[in-house]
Amino acid sequence: MSGACGPNHRSQTSGVDVVVVGGGIAGASAAAYLSANGMSVVMLEKQEHYADIVRGEWIAPWGLREAQVLGVEDAFGVGGAWEIREWTQWDETVDPAEAETVDMTRFVPGVGGPMSFPHHTVCELMAEQAAANGATVVMGAQRTHVTKGVAPVVTYTKDGEAHELRPRFVIGATGRGCTIGRQIGVSMATSVHHWGGGVRVSGLDDWPMDVQAMGTEDDKMFMVFPQGDGHARLYINFPTENKDRYRGQEGLTRFIADFELASLPDRGKSVYAAAVPVGPLKVWPSVAMFPEQPIVTDGVALVGDEAGNADTVLGTGLSCSLRDTRTVCDILLGGDDWSPAAFEPYLDERRFRMHRLHFGAGIIAKLHCEFGPDAAERRRKARVLMADNFAAQVTGLLNMVPPEEVPDFGFSEFFAERLFRETV
Ligand SMILES: Cc1cc2nc3c(=O)[nH]c(=O)nc-3n(C[C@H](O)[C@H](O)[C@H](O)COP(=O)(O)OP(=O)(O)OC[C@H]3O[C@@H](n4cnc5c(N)ncnc54)[C@H](O)[C@@H]3O)c2cc1C
Repeated sequence: MSGACGPNHRSQTSGVDVVVVGGGIAGASAAAYLSANGMSVVMLEKQEHYADIVRGEWIAPWGLREAQVLGVEDAFGVGGAWEIREWTQWDETVDPAEAETVDMTRFVPGVGGPMSFPHHTVCELMAEQAAANGATVVMGAQRTHVTKGVAPVVTYTKDGEAHELRPRFVIGATGRGCTIGRQIGVSMATSVHHWGGGVRVSGLDDWPMDVQAMGTEDDKMFMVFPQGDGHARLYINFPTENKDRYRGQEGLTRFIADFELASLPDRGKSVYAAAVPVGPLKVWPSVAMFPEQPIVTDGVALVGDEAGNADTVLGTGLSCSLRDTRTVCDILLGGDDWSPAAFEPYLDERRFRMHRLHFGAGIIAKLHCEFGPDAAERRRKARVLMADNFAAQVTGLLNMVPPEEVPDFGFSEFFAERLFRETV
């Protein structure tokens, strides 16, 4: 990377248009897009090098369309993104021979299916792209502090040396830690429906690489997202009361062994008998976060997970982050008014979008991440209902097309009430 990355760091105290704090998917794409469009940008990322910390690695077709608009789609391609074309939904209540498969390539013209990719590699490539566009990329930025205001101030340390920046605007993109949000007075309400764990593996040579799998059995909701060449990201969602099940030295072994599933007979074997972990196993509360104050204030806007997120089970956090980036950056690029009032369209669109995503995540979590005989019976009936009436599957469209393109009826209490009344 060029600019002030690593030991070549140099301080800039004036003439900076935008400081982006956090270099994940949201921050790095913002730095790349703004710098490609002529802005003077400094991006501060706390990691020295991008590490595999287990984040989203499956991006919906509508998120890929956002990446295209931002001009960062090559980071996915070069970073090893793999198109997944089909989705098979397994379940303990269904004979494996009858598990349905959906063609995912037909939903967003010009994009194709969702992509599965190594997250940290793609972030690194986006940061490199930002640096190549002229942005100053500071890796290993520590103790970043933002003071909001019409003339915001950003301080940080790098290699023990203190720095101060006085940009026109700050984008806070530090993820779920919400560091910048807390500094500008934004608190988050949270809710946790279940827990999840994930690990990247190789060795799945017998797994059909263009097919992703999801399903529920016993007290596990499992997912397999192939990444090509025998690699895949494996996830299991499980009950909160059992949140320590994968802790300890044997946790990873237990996690892989849990793919020995009756509902996934042959393919399950190709996971539990062959998977070789190539990254850490991470376990997390599948948390939804709701900001309690405005996410835009004088001189600062929050984007990505730092601005609030839907339950991970929905798999739309990456798409949302790129949508945030595009919306906020287009306002910055569109004129000189960078006051909070200019960001009203962002706030309105995000409120609408997150309402739909939280609503959809609630339905998915209730259907697939609740366990026991009653929940299994609910899933069995839901499958029958959905097979009979395609409209009952409307929530699943959130994984493919942008929330505003999903029919309105899917977000009514009436729809949810009917869906669950028919299935209990
Ligand atoms: C386990 C898991 C699985 C997921 N699966 C999916 C999925 O399949 N599909 C999907 O779409 N979404 C998924 N998500 C959600 C998705 O990963 C997030 O929505 C997305 O990564 C948010 O991007 P972000 O850039 O806002 O935040 P992050 O990815 O958290 O990036 C924040 C960046 O800021 C840096 N940072 C933090 N604090 C500071 C600081 N003080 N100073 C400087 N830098 C800082 C961090 O090092 C990091 O690089 C998943 C999330 C998790 C946790």
